[in-house]
Amino acid sequence: MATQTLPEAEVPVISKKPAIQYVYFFGGGKADGNGKMKDELGGKGAGLAEMTNAGLPVPPGFTIQTEACREYMRHGGVSKEVDREMEAALSHLEQLQGQKLGKGENPLLVSVRSGAKFSMPGMMDTILNLGLNDQSVESLAKRSNNPRFAYDSYRRLIQMFGNVVLEIEKKQFDEVFDAKKKQKKAKLDTDLDAKALKEVIAEYKKVVKKHTKHDFPQDAHDQLVMARDAVFRSWQNDRAKTYRRINNIDDMLGTAVNVQAMVYGNLGDTSGTGVGFTRNPASGAKEFYGEYLMNAQGEDVVSGVRTPVPILELQRVMPDVYDQLRDITTRLENHYHDMQDFEFTIQEGKLYMLQTRNGKRTGLAAVRVAIEMVDEGLIDKEEAIFRLDPNQVVDFFVSRLDEKDIRPEDVLTSTGLAASPGAVVGQIVFTADEAVTKAGHGAEKNPVILVRAETTPEDIHGMEVAIGILTSQGGITSHAAVVTRGMGKSCVAGAGEIAVDERAREMRARGQVFKEDDWITIDGTTGRVFRGKRKLLPPDPQNMAKLEKFMSWAEPFRQIGVRANADIPRDAQKAREFGAEGIGLCRTEHMFFAADRIGHMRAMILANNEKDRRLALKKLLPMQRSDFIGLFEAMEGLPVTIRLLDPPLHEFLPKREKLMVDIASLSSASAKQKKTLVEDYRDYGAKAGGDLKKLLPQLLARVEELHEFNPMLGHRGCRLGITYPEITEMQSRAIFEAAVAVEKKGGKTHAEVMIPLIATVKEMENQGAIVRRVAEEVFREKGKKVKYHVGTMIELPRACLVADEIAKEAEFFSFGTNDLTQTTFGFSRDDINKVLPTYLREGILKQDPFASIDRDGVGELVSIGMERGRKTRPDLEVGICGEHGGDPSSVEFCHKVGMTYVSCSPFRVKTALLAAAQAGATDKLKVEGGRTK
Ligand code: ADP
Ligand code: MG
Ligand code: MG
Repeated sequence: MATQTLPEAEVPVISKKPAIQYVYFFGGGKADGNGKMKDELGGKGAGLAEMTNAGLPVPPGFTIQTEACREYMRHGGVSKEVDREMEAALSHLEQLQGQKLGKGENPLLVSVRSGAKFSMPGMMDTILNLGLNDQSVESLAKRSNNPRFAYDSYRRLIQMFGNVVLEIEKKQFDEVFDAKKKQKKAKLDTDLDAKALKEVIAEYKKVVKKHTKHDFPQDAHDQLVMARDAVFRSWQNDRAKTYRRINNIDDMLGTAVNVQAMVYGNLGDTSGTGVGFTRNPASGAKEFYGEYLMNAQGEDVVSGVRTPVPILELQRVMPDVYDQLRDITTRLENHYHDMQDFEFTIQEGKLYMLQTRNGKRTGLAAVRVAIEMVDEGLIDKEEAIFRLDPNQVVDFFVSRLDEKDIRPEDVLTSTGLAASPGAVVGQIVFTADEAVTKAGHGAEKNPVILVRAETTPEDIHGMEVAIGILTSQGGITSHAAVVTRGMGKSCVAGAGEIAVDERAREMRARGQVFKEDDWITIDGTTGRVFRGKRKLLPPDPQNMAKLEKFMSWAEPFRQIGVRANADIPRDAQKAREFGAEGIGLCRTEHMFFAADRIGHMRAMILANNEKDRRLALKKLLPMQRSDFIGLFEAMEGLPVTIRLLDPPLHEFLPKREKLMVDIASLSSASAKQKKTLVEDYRDYGAKAGGDLKKLLPQLLARVEELHEFNPMLGHRGCRLGITYPEITEMQSRAIFEAAVAVEKKGGKTHAEVMIPLIATVKEMENQGAIVRRVAEEVFREKGKKVKYHVGTMIELPRACLVADEIAKEAEFFSFGTNDLTQTTFGFSRDDINKVLPTYLREGILKQDPFASIDRDGVGELVSIGMERGRKTRPDLEVGICGEHGGDPSSVEFCHKVGMTYVSCSPFRVKTALLAAAQAGATDKLKVEGGRTK
């Protein structure tokens, strides 16, 4: 074939790349960037630029934008242009400061700070005091007239640089430091004097040499380049990846790097460093909230090396600084129209701002802050409705302690910090890995409470699976507190009366020792810890009232309906209370598991002829009918989508292996053992020990007959109704008799009969005909008609492709995205945990496709199915009834493709309502979802 040349106009013009500005300077009262540029500068860089432009006291510096990080990811290094712009910015900074990086009598020192678009607390790395070496440390000592400070700064640099850049375990340095403290009988890090710190430095350098075979780099410029690249690399570390996965942050964003002149909180007793919030991040109350430490640097406050002091204390020691800080942070909150989380450092009585961002908060706090900010005129309602992440709605449903159940001797402490609300009961684990093992992989996790002196970013995987976190150190801004608030998980932090010994795997409190697996109760709403399993109560009605008010602002924007999955009247009732507008999925088989029915169900399955099967079905009919009456009554005319029998029949039968064992042991069984066996098989017709000999082999034979190698792809769904039409008949009869009965009593009904697992229109025809025939029969017999529809659950790729055909017979579609995900990926949902952890770690899958809809594949099939279905039937009602119906991102997808409704579990209804409203508002107001991430 001849090579084809493109017509002239289509030849791509090889032009120079559009000039990218890689480096943005801030300082001297103005900045190149601004607060809106989070994509380029990251949240931290954008905040520093914005604060500089606002004339706030921010140490000057520059931000290397995220594109450089993406370059680094693509090519394993940055381009020459990045280096060039960085040099220029560094000269500019040196000029402005009248200092040289790591040189001269007054050396410039900088911090090299990570900072991505969305805050990822503690997940990436930062290095302080960069520029120090054996010479500049002496200059710093002389210049500051404070050798202790200079050596303290240098040992911190070696430690941070060693860990972050040279990848030496933190432990290696900690051991040296702790040994020195012990040797000098120093209780706190601040008790070590200049001489001791000098010795620490010498030993740190040995650690570096031993692990890298090189000396600690003395050239300040080398340090800078190495640190910058290490920060770029830290975007790709495991904990950052895990955090992004949990918080649904794009892996491709990259981080910016901020290089900033150091200010020193470790210069003595008039210096310090702290963090705070403009409102209480747990409750949302409008109060100045924070902690600080004098004579400290950087992470000391949050890392728990010393116990921080409440910020109100600062008002006493340094009233002027305190007033200035309050004034600045109030201005910041007014400027950003949101609660701020800030960092500051005081250097010899002078205040510097180092960071500000929209603070992470609990769901309770989010709603309270949003409502109060509307009242204060800071934001309008349309902005307010984005301030609560739909996933955080569950915070309103957290349990409370039953105070009446508490005896004084059960209290282990009542002075922990109320870091993240909710009371939980669980078993103690002491490490994140153990938390994962003990919690298990099933859908229902074993309740474990992760107990640690304090958590670090390495614990993130354990925190994800634990139901609650308890730490003995660290404050309200500590890692544990910040992360659990984001996760909506109960947390008591800084419970100082509890001693945690992670090595011995012990927790001591009130003279009692607790080990792994012991039960405790923690209350993150009040900061208390109790021994044993305390009684819990449902949520607080006052908070619910606030949530209702908030929801009433969001609701008008919602376009897509929200229904609930409910199998029994009680759940239907609950769903309606939460605001469900119908039942999107009633799984009839769940009705058969009740004690009074399972026997008949089993008889039906065991029957090997139609007559016996009909006999058993006849017994089930009145029971199903009364269930449906309950559902229709609870829903008062709202649609109730009832799925006909779906699971493979052998799910209702005993396990093949158990039967085999029981048969083998029957001949030698004692009277007592036989009695137990009779109990085991009573539902199958065993009345006395003598029945077993005949019954068990019969049962085994039937189980063998029904046995399938791939039950998920086997004799189930509409295939059951087609092979045993009498099942479909009985279920239809129960539905229509129930509907007629309810309407005869003056009630309203709207039944939607749903045929599962349809792949071809012929299947639909077959089952639809039975349902319609039975409906007519019932209407004739009872002399009354009711409104009903017959539709299908779309859960096979083929059904999506031939949806136009299927829609000729089906009056509605409901996408069963659990099965559709299984059949699209070829993953078994029940077995995926063997591969999923690896897939997520390796980045092969970004998310569990069973939790959040896979838009590219499964989502595309959904779109195709909808489009083709509506070609045949333009007004086709389309819903979704998989687990995805309660997942905000999936709800947004359903809104976008124009579904009629989503259906989710009753407890997710409010989450879905808010997610749907926010999706609607995003369209209507043309805003980018303004949620705090
Ligand atoms: P993170 O994102 O993990 O909070 P940061 O980059 O904010 O990391 O820095 C870690 C700590 O170091 C913070 O407490 C911050 O205030 C402090 N810090 C960063 N840069 C400087 C600086 N130039 N001078 C003094 N302290 C700094
Ligand atoms: Mg940090
Ligand atoms: Mg910070």
